[in-house]
Amino acid sequence: MQTITTVAELRRELAKACSAGKRVGLVPTMGYLHDGHLALVEASRAQCDVTVVSIFVNPTQFGPNEDLSSYPRDFVRDEKLCRDAGVEIVFAPGAQEVYPAQFETFVEPGELAKPLCGAFRPGHFRGVATVVCKLFNMVHPDVVFFGQKDFQQCAVVRRMATDLNLPIKIVTVPTVREPDGLAMSSRNRHLSKEERRRAVAIGRGLFAAAEEFRAGVREVEKLIAIAERQLETVDRLQYLELVDGDTLKRAESPLRFPAALCVAAYVGSTRLIDNVLLGLPTP
Ligand code: AMP
Repeated sequence: MQTITTVAELRRELAKACSAGKRVGLVPTMGYLHDGHLALVEASRAQCDVTVVSIFVNPTQFGPNEDLSSYPRDFVRDEKLCRDAGVEIVFAPGAQEVYPAQFETFVEPGELAKPLCGAFRPGHFRGVATVVCKLFNMVHPDVVFFGQKDFQQCAVVRRMATDLNLPIKIVTVPTVREPDGLAMSSRNRHLSKEERRRAVAIGRGLFAAAEEFRAGVREVEKLIAIAERQLETVDRLQYLELVDGDTLKRAESPLRFPAALCVAAYVGSTRLIDNVLLGLPTP
């Protein structure tokens, strides 16, 4: 495994892979890797010849009062996890490499970036779309892997790839969870023991609603209320919304299209997000 920090060196290495006709997979991450990230690596290894994991805590997707400086980092551990997982290249550029002085060009997503997290994190998806677009141009992957946990991010990135004619296959990998249902997240490490116990309510709420959905319930308010009941133990519910799976607009009763129940909640001072898909055949 190679660790590369500059775009020039990355291009040199990947040119070799490309001329050998190898299929390149990209797994973009912000590091502090866990089994969720490793599921993306596994998917890439299954579908591609060379897997590149990027590790970059992207400053442009954090708001001024968000947790950029306290975002968990452990590069040595990340490198070991990648090596053990069979990754060929870890790309870990510094902030200057990605955003050199006088950088001023951004990718501006549209309506998909407005609800849910977008409503509470102004500029977040602009930062995400920009860094993902830049990573696509640096790596030129054939396939890129994202986690279902960041449902809105997947929607924004897919839209961007279509709108900007980026010739890249995008694969979404199901959310990997702890045995008690908590979605794995780098931010889980900020939870105290007591908070960790209460955080389990997030997955429970979503699963309770999904079960009712499977039992035939199609009323939006009813499904939200079922999840909300479980979520009483979180400290602050930022949003709990049932949205159309394609447009991310609020779903209407009775549900007739694939939908996603999405949540953002604070447990202590840690903000966690999660979602479940409520699948219905598109009529
Ligand atoms: P992050 O490092 O949190 O920016 O995440 C990097 C990638 O890993 C994103 O595509 C996430 O959606 C994905 N990811 C994060 N947590 C999980 C999880 N629990 N299961 C599956 N994918 C995940």
